[in-house]
Amino acid sequence: MSQPYRVIFHLDMDAFYASIEQRDFPEHRGRPVIVGASPVHRGVVCAASYEARAFGVHSAMPSVIAVRLCPNAVFVQPRMARYREESKKIMKIVEATGAKVEQVSIDEAYLDLSQIVTGQSPDNALLNSVQLARRLKETIRNALQLAASIGIAGNKMLAKLASDYGKPDGLLLITERDKILFLKDLPVDRIHGVGRVTARRLKALGIETIGQLQSYPGDLRPVAGSWSHTLRRYALGEDTREVQSSGSVKVVSSERTFSQDTEDRNILRQALRDQADELGSSLQRKKLRARTIQVKVRYGNFETLTRQLSVENPVQTSRELYRFACHLLARHRLVKAPLRLLGLGVFNLVEGGWSQLEFQFPGAASPLENWHAPKGMKGNIWTGGNRENEESQKTWHSWTLNFHPRAHEFNPKGRAGGHPARQHSPLNLSP
Ligand SMILES: [Mg+2]
Repeated sequence: MSQPYRVIFHLDMDAFYASIEQRDFPEHRGRPVIVGASPVHRGVVCAASYEARAFGVHSAMPSVIAVRLCPNAVFVQPRMARYREESKKIMKIVEATGAKVEQVSIDEAYLDLSQIVTGQSPDNALLNSVQLARRLKETIRNALQLAASIGIAGNKMLAKLASDYGKPDGLLLITERDKILFLKDLPVDRIHGVGRVTARRLKALGIETIGQLQSYPGDLRPVAGSWSHTLRRYALGEDTREVQSSGSVKVVSSERTFSQDTEDRNILRQALRDQADELGSSLQRKKLRARTIQVKVRYGNFETLTRQLSVENPVQTSRELYRFACHLLARHRLVKAPLRLLGLGVFNLVEGGWSQLEFQFPGAASPLENWHAPKGMKGNIWTGGNRENEESQKTWHSWTLNFHPRAHEFNPKGRAGGHPARQHSPLNLSP
């Protein structure tokens, strides 16, 4: 009996909300779909299809800006109940693998298959899991006509990077042998937990890539404090966090009771801004992101209402929280009478210091787009220039995208220059 080595999958549905809309409404297929407020209303984008992302549209962006970037976009109202229903079906399929499953959001889960897949060495165990990952993707596709990306690695951090990197419709394995090389040329903010502040501090030390961090001889405590040890380990692709089967429900919220009931927009906006600042910095401190944003209002007669909104890409910054809060107040016309209390809360919290949403300027390219994998890297092991396994890998690349046939063309990530290491490892397996 061989020793159990760690085998972790990160499964993430591709453009989940928008893909469900495109599946349910065939007329939207191949078109840029924006799930969120219509541009004639004040409101924001909740999710965008790959076709819309190619125009620079991303979640939390005001819909009026989105329509300017992508005038032909189809705007659809979110159907949260529908998305949750689909999510349940997906998680059932995921559970059926027998893995220990940690659902981290509506469309994302970690699977620990260490007890299910064995091997003679850590990398051998990882390789032995590829068949299962393919089957899992196929099962989801056959049952739901939706595409999932799966990243395979020996820990959560690398598995998540692998699924991001392989998107859309990806299946990517990062071996233990090549993990250091895989990380080397990536920007430091790709490390789990490195936000803009830490990235800026590292940059001041001349550290911009993970490789520079890997070989940095100095003390990192001034930059990352007590976290510096973990940061170094992450840079080397080491992460011992367990896959936790029961996600704990965490809520962070902030409320304000006014000395006098008020419907003065300036006062309310200022209160929301303060709350968003407070929550945003709390999330950043804890290296968490929020999937669900909730506002709470209480009127003079103590009638209390809450309204919430879930987003596909979790948010963290004060600015995003503030925007979504304003959107909720406006959309549900909550300020219909003077308020006694106004509150903002976030829940469905997920770990992670990185998001495309950190990029604040509408229309500009996301930093991610500068390094993302070309489609030829999908269904693949990242070998960092080692071509010895190429023959066996070719057989893995047997399945092709049969839903959203045009997704590749529009995928901004796929169009960009690819992983920095691609120059020395052009393992293009596309047909
Ligand atoms: Mg997703």
